[in-house]
Amino acid sequence: MPELVAAQIAAGEVIERPAAVLKELLENAFDAGAQRITVEIERAGRERIAVHDDGAGIPAADVPLAFHRHATSKLTSVDDLSALVSYGFRGEALPAIAAAAGSLRLTTRTADAAAACEIEFELGRSGGPQPAARAPGTSVEVIDLFAGQPARRAFLAGARAERAALLRAAGDAVLANPDRSLRVVLDGRTPLEHTPSDALQPLEANDEIHDGAHLDAPLRLAAAAVFNPDAARRAFGLEAHSARGEIALDGLAGAPQDARRTRDRLRLFVNGRPVNDRRLAFAVQEAYRDWLGSGEFPLAVVRLRVPPDAVDVNVHPAKAEVKLRDPDAAFSLLQRTIRAALAEGRSAAPLRLGRSTRHADLEYAADQPQQALPGGLGRTRAVAEAAVDHTALETDHEPFTSEPSSPEQRRPQPALPPLRTIGQLHRTFIIAEGPAGLVLVDQHGAHERIVYERLLQAANATSAAAQPLLTPILLTLDADEAVHWNTTAEQLRSLGFDAEPFGDRVLRLRAIPAACSAADAERLIRGVLAELSSDRGDPERFDRAAAATACHGSVRRGQALDQATMASLLRDLERCRNPHACPHGRPTLIEISSDDVLRKFGRK
Ligand code: ADP
Ligand code: MG
Repeated sequence: MPELVAAQIAAGEVIERPAAVLKELLENAFDAGAQRITVEIERAGRERIAVHDDGAGIPAADVPLAFHRHATSKLTSVDDLSALVSYGFRGEALPAIAAAAGSLRLTTRTADAAAACEIEFELGRSGGPQPAARAPGTSVEVIDLFAGQPARRAFLAGARAERAALLRAAGDAVLANPDRSLRVVLDGRTPLEHTPSDALQPLEANDEIHDGAHLDAPLRLAAAAVFNPDAARRAFGLEAHSARGEIALDGLAGAPQDARRTRDRLRLFVNGRPVNDRRLAFAVQEAYRDWLGSGEFPLAVVRLRVPPDAVDVNVHPAKAEVKLRDPDAAFSLLQRTIRAALAEGRSAAPLRLGRSTRHADLEYAADQPQQALPGGLGRTRAVAEAAVDHTALETDHEPFTSEPSSPEQRRPQPALPPLRTIGQLHRTFIIAEGPAGLVLVDQHGAHERIVYERLLQAANATSAAAQPLLTPILLTLDADEAVHWNTTAEQLRSLGFDAEPFGDRVLRLRAIPAACSAADAERLIRGVLAELSSDRGDPERFDRAAAATACHGSVRRGQALDQATMASLLRDLERCRNPHACPHGRPTLIEISSDDVLRKFGRK
């Protein structure tokens, strides 16, 4: 088999997208001991990916060797395979990338060499190394990726998804190696920049803080660069090891308020490698159980260290999967440590549903309305059962229309019966009396519905009603949010936010939608941005942004409400076009009929 073909086959395995190229080049730079790395990306990596480092460099005589398959300087005997501490060990990445790229140029110089050495490949072929000029270190420039493989080019996801994957790879590299500097320049902007010698500004007086936050710890700074400084400040530090000391853990557990509806902010590493391990991810999720609702995923950076022989990283060519010798120990260590950190910082965390009510939350998911509450109240029936707008149930969110268009939507919605407020349950449900019996209203879902409909109404008017802020808020965007800024800005404006960019990574917010005037503006915009940037499927969908705004602009679960507030919430709910379901399609209220109650007391 000709070497190029073999390399292209290997390339297919290792280099399936631009982000895989970046990952391999970054790993090589870290392996070479680089302290400062700069990445340049053009056109989502298809046109150009360049990585410059200040590492050890490659001796001129070894440069051609670096492009031979299975040539690696990091493995001297087979026994080494189990004791690996460096990233690379297959000697496959450079030849694979050279085979996949239109051209690849590597320029390198060791500290003691008089000059640099350069080698260039065109469609996998090279004329050999040449002398060149460069400071000690290595630069690899990959141009026109997959030029020789039109089929693979066609398979690439859209530029937006590729950029997200590139930033993800760079972000993971920063979180795994927070003691090194890394700067990513993407089409002339700098969405990610991390310097370990910086320090986060101390918190303002009214910010949430907990003890033990080392604002200059490299990992926290890395999290500030990858996510945002506020979330990084709020996160709880993690540090622990297993009883026998075999597994060491460090990292950050995000405050519950920094959770998202996707797993994007959950980053797991084993021995410095990002891993995609469902069991470990589940351990984190479980630890947050009392703090987050279903469908919310925490921000967490978890880094496990195990002896090299206790892990098999060789399961997948891209090394995203791991096999731990003792997964149970890792699982329980992870869960215990995060749980303890959260419990310690409990006062700083917003109050969340306890276990039993969360369970109830799941039980009355819209598709199974005929369920018993765990408390044993007998059969409860969702009032919404027959009335729930089924278009809203099937799609995740209701389509955005002011005038009902489909026959399904034109079907008249049964109005709410008049409800009398009795009180509040678990700071989560409004207890009310209706004509048929007891009614429990989910305060968050109901308010979400109200705000959602107001937003849609306002957006449909000539100009969305905005509530100016007394002082504008400056927000640092997550790296991925900054990259998707343009689409995001459009959607924010149509919702009634007045926001404009203020430099590469900062957003200045001057007004929020009037429908959410009672909300904490910063929290609102954060939540909406998070939702918008995690929305990979259909970025243009306005209703999704509206639902996110409604969600973050509403009364929360766990919030105590006075009688008057509850009553006015119920009145507003009565005025809604579809009062029976929240924008996500869950029922806003359930009914426990008087008959059921009487039966329970043996009176019927
Ligand atoms: P591996 O990393 O598995 O050894 P690669 O194909 O990624 O294989 O790299 C081949 C060799 O090229 C490495 O073993 C290393 O000696 C050298 N090399 C690659 N990139 C760099 C770099 N940025 N700095 C120093 N040496 C490098
Ligand atoms: Mg390598």
